[in-house]
Amino acid sequence: MSQLSYKPESCEELPFSDLHCHSCYSDGELTPEQLLKGASEAGVSVFAITDHDTVAGIGELRAAAGSVANAVQVVSGIELTCQWGRNMVHIVGLGFDETAPVLGDYLKKLDELRLVRAELISEKLCKRNIPDLLPRVLELAGDGQIGRPHFAVAMVEAGVVNNEAQAFNRYLGAGKIGDVKADWPTMEQAIDIIHQAGGVAVLAHPTKYNMTFTKVRLLAGGFSEQGGDAIEISYPGIESGHLLQLDKLASKHKMMVSAGSDFHKRQFHWTGIGKYPRYSSNNPHVLSKLLQH
Ligand code: AMP
Ligand code: MN
Ligand code: MN
Ligand code: MN
Repeated sequence: MSQLSYKPESCEELPFSDLHCHSCYSDGELTPEQLLKGASEAGVSVFAITDHDTVAGIGELRAAAGSVANAVQVVSGIELTCQWGRNMVHIVGLGFDETAPVLGDYLKKLDELRLVRAELISEKLCKRNIPDLLPRVLELAGDGQIGRPHFAVAMVEAGVVNNEAQAFNRYLGAGKIGDVKADWPTMEQAIDIIHQAGGVAVLAHPTKYNMTFTKVRLLAGGFSEQGGDAIEISYPGIESGHLLQLDKLASKHKMMVSAGSDFHKRQFHWTGIGKYPRYSSNNPHVLSKLLQH
């Protein structure tokens, strides 16, 4: 557990932030510049892009920072895929040095792992008489990270399914044929690499892993023991009861709290830049630590 040497602040006293968001460098539709413009228009004043397993969009985000009408402070971000036991979980890293060589090496391995996984997903889908989607998936991913959402888009385009949700429900979601297991790094390794690059590690959307809340408690405890710094307690779809329980879990383990929209695309109406339930917490917000730098 990191040392919390600063005074806890009420969330409402802090600048309006969105610390979880995706660009076209992973499975989002917008460029970093477009996202920044959206953040500025939504009144967000501290903003992070947290693409899956890549920092490719951060440079463009920083370069665009001065160009928007309402100033937006940019924080480096990433959402790392990792394994906690047999569960795949997401750890958001914030405020790290995206040029740290040790992080570069770690992400290069994830690039390779995702490419091999994409080939396997494609092979599995072919066995279900779905046309070879890999070329289109690689095209869609472009310079960015390849993920299941690219398969979902390619399936819609090929007329295999009507929409991306159906692609996940039938082929790509947990336990389906395209949910190909990969040898992801462990949660401890993900936390470690974020720390080595000078950032803070945040347990992303704890209620979105199809776990009982009892198991979520174990996850939060394990995350804290392994050095995790904060828990995301507010994000789209979180029930107010769960938000309060996550806030209590953060207190119990002396962790900070964080929040973000997990915005991917405008067509996903449940998200929007800066959109997440407002809340108050007596725990220190990760933002106040990031703003100390
Ligand atoms: P991957 O990183 O390739 O494992 O893909 C994970 C991403 O797929 C998540 O970050 C979501 O954006 C998306 N995703 C996962 N499950 C679903 C689902 N049931 N419906 C729509 N999108 C999903
Ligand atoms: Mn995603
Ligand atoms: Mn996630
Ligand atoms: Mn996300």
